[in-house]
Amino acid sequence: MEDSVKRKMEQFYEGSDGPPLRVLPIGGLGEIGMNCMLVGNYDRYILIDAGIMFPDYDMLGVQKIIPDTTFIRKWSHKIEAVIITHGHEDHIGALPWVIPALDSHTPIYASSFTMELIKKRLIEFGIFVPSRLKVFRTRRRFSAGPFEIEPITVTHSIPDCCGLVLRCADGTILHTGDWKIDESPLDGKVFDREALEELSKEGVTLMMSDSTNVLSPGRTLSETVVADALLRHISAAKGRVVTTQFSSNIHRLGSIKAAADLTGRKLVFVGMSLRTYLDAAWKDGKAPIDPSTLIKVEDIDTYAPKDLLIVTTGSQAEPRAALNLASHGSSHLLKLSKEDIILYSAKVIPGNETRVMKMFNRISEIGSTMIMGKNEKLHSSGHGYRDELEEVLKIVKPQHFLPIHGELVFLKEHELLGKSTGIRHTTLADDMINIDAPENLFFHLSFLLLDCEAYYKAEEAKQDIRMVHQAGLLHRNALSYQSLQNWCIIGNVVGIAIDDNRVIQNGEMLGVSHLRNRRVLSNGFLSLGKENLQLMYSDGDKAFGTSTDLYLDERWKIALNGIVMVSMEILRPQEAVVSAEKTLKGKIKITTRCLWLDEGKLLDALHKAAHATLSSCPVNCPLAHIERTESEVLRKLVRKYSNKRPEVIVIAVENPEAVLSDELNARLSGEPRGGFRISALRNVVDDHPKKRRPTKIQEEEGRNGMHSMRNTQHELEDHSGVEGERLVSEEATISGSELAARFSLNSESAERFSVNSESDEFWKSSIVSSPIDELVKDSSGSIPEEEDREKLKKEIVFDDSVEIPISRLQSSKPVKLNRWNPDEVMKLINLRGQLHIRFQVAKQQKVLWEEISSNLLAG
Ligand SMILES: [Zn+2]
Ligand SMILES: [Zn+2]
Repeated sequence: MEDSVKRKMEQFYEGSDGPPLRVLPIGGLGEIGMNCMLVGNYDRYILIDAGIMFPDYDMLGVQKIIPDTTFIRKWSHKIEAVIITHGHEDHIGALPWVIPALDSHTPIYASSFTMELIKKRLIEFGIFVPSRLKVFRTRRRFSAGPFEIEPITVTHSIPDCCGLVLRCADGTILHTGDWKIDESPLDGKVFDREALEELSKEGVTLMMSDSTNVLSPGRTLSETVVADALLRHISAAKGRVVTTQFSSNIHRLGSIKAAADLTGRKLVFVGMSLRTYLDAAWKDGKAPIDPSTLIKVEDIDTYAPKDLLIVTTGSQAEPRAALNLASHGSSHLLKLSKEDIILYSAKVIPGNETRVMKMFNRISEIGSTMIMGKNEKLHSSGHGYRDELEEVLKIVKPQHFLPIHGELVFLKEHELLGKSTGIRHTTLADDMINIDAPENLFFHLSFLLLDCEAYYKAEEAKQDIRMVHQAGLLHRNALSYQSLQNWCIIGNVVGIAIDDNRVIQNGEMLGVSHLRNRRVLSNGFLSLGKENLQLMYSDGDKAFGTSTDLYLDERWKIALNGIVMVSMEILRPQEAVVSAEKTLKGKIKITTRCLWLDEGKLLDALHKAAHATLSSCPVNCPLAHIERTESEVLRKLVRKYSNKRPEVIVIAVENPEAVLSDELNARLSGEPRGGFRISALRNVVDDHPKKRRPTKIQEEEGRNGMHSMRNTQHELEDHSGVEGERLVSEEATISGSELAARFSLNSESAERFSVNSESDEFWKSSIVSSPIDELVKDSSGSIPEEEDREKLKKEIVFDDSVEIPISRLQSSKPVKLNRWNPDEVMKLINLRGQLHIRFQVAKQQKVLWEEISSNLLAG
């Protein structure tokens, strides 16, 4: 969409023109949970509810999903109050994030029990400001934002639930909240039919109603029926009885308490949230149980089983809830036994089925008797069934009906139910629209078209109205009811009525006008634009943000495809040195997570590929390019290997010194950590005629080494401390944790590793390049003559920095861990310097040789 048009659109629905009553759901439409809705009169809004949604199992690490607080913040100047219908998490759970997004004085209204729950939450989050919290009572009107609000009593599954009547000069709105019709509620607060009947006479412009159970035929059970069933089962039980139910259902807890009293059992609560809700009810003076009369959970064993009634959390098999822990046998508070009877006084919330079934299986295995299922009448839903929904639609007879609180299928079904009761204006508009097209209609056309299927033609339409025709609309002169049946014109504003068969979802703004409003030329819902709302996520700790902020895709991707981390220290050949083989070398460390390694084979393959790729890069290749190339190659390799597409992170650094010194370390310690380290010295070795006896080279090298060491020692002294530390730590981290660990764990894999190693051959052929290697790797077939060996030993002893025990010299096995003292490190550095000089010398010799040979050839 073009910016200019977008702007127009925002101006449009933020303006004071157009339909006076506006509804903008932020959450709760097209999903169960996260109920949060803006309702306004022109540009003044109230926010009804601020709930959370619980995540699916695939949202790794996410604990709560929260409505778009960024949008709420953007509109905070228009939101004059927050009204909460009741205390369920899907209605109050997001307040800790929504309140900070609002203006600092915006009041929050709720019934008294609900407010106790809100208070507790806000105190926990450190945002409790008592002056902002206002308690309302049913049938007592109060002003909030542009509306006069009257809460009315509805029955549900938590105390103190309200529907809301919102009145203003432009019409009356009824928001039902969550409800069922309980004809005999335990607290005596019946569903307020009378209020609805009065309201119907007054005329309701718009009704919004709970769609949760529209697919369930008939009517819900009363809590009284459930109370009777509980009593029946508890009376019949001989041993211990354990119940589980939703902790917020205080009435249900009251029924359990009554049954306990009648059967002479003592009540025990196991599980934190039971006390949370009971304490809130107690503070509010509505608790059916005095919390102080509960038996302490530690005292369970002091009572006979037949005297106990244990109330637990965990009806949804939540990982840390009491019943679930007990089913695992991992609760120290509650041990289930064969004699126990478990009353499942809840329903399985869609999405939790597998988890709950597994818990049931575990309980069955223990042998406890489970009583559950519809026929036992141990549970009743808090949301009205189809017949109840229909009854209320028929009582209220609203002009417009908007189903809320439900999945998309529920909303559609509820729409149809609304239509079947004779409500003309649901969002499934199919009736004719009275149209009296004003002269300025065409000024609005381009905008208007935006939201219909032809919007992409908008720009052309401005120039040639026939384009509109082609796009499915009619020519100006042919404007007719039929052609415009999806358009609405109110005053000077043109909008589009909701398409047939479409249900409004979160982020879509609806406009409604009272039918008796004189300015209305047509009626029905108007779409006033759409805001792309984002879901927000909380991981239960501090992290809060969009899925991008919390890397949800990435979490999933890594969990599914694994991750490969590659660190490379790149050694580039010196500029001055010309070599026949001028390639990049490097020290490469590869670590993986969540990836099948095929007993290390994949890791070996990765190492090989990484080295091969590196040597194929041009010598002056920028690091970023190396990283990119390596990453692509390794990703492809894994894909070929196991069909996974891992995240490959390559970090390359220039570090020739480290490569050299590390190589020396390896050689001095005799640690065959892969052939690549030798590659730094490859050119030196290659320059020597192959048939030369290795020991001689060593000898020479050794002597030269000692010589130059003395010369260079002074210069290098300053760096030695730092260098030494770094080398030591490298040894400790790299060889210690990764390769050495692998070697020491399993000699077979060590063997394979060395065999598979890319430059293994090279390793063998270049074994002569270091005296120490020579000594250690005595089984490679290049054993030095005894005298040479002795000579070397002497040299090494003379160079007393490197103490190599005889046993180690004689050992054929690589040394796993190598801890250097600073002196050793210093010597190494010196040796490195010396080798570098010889490296250069050899290089120059080669240049010279090449020059001569080419001259000869030319000659
Ligand atoms: Zn709800
Ligand atoms: Zn509810």
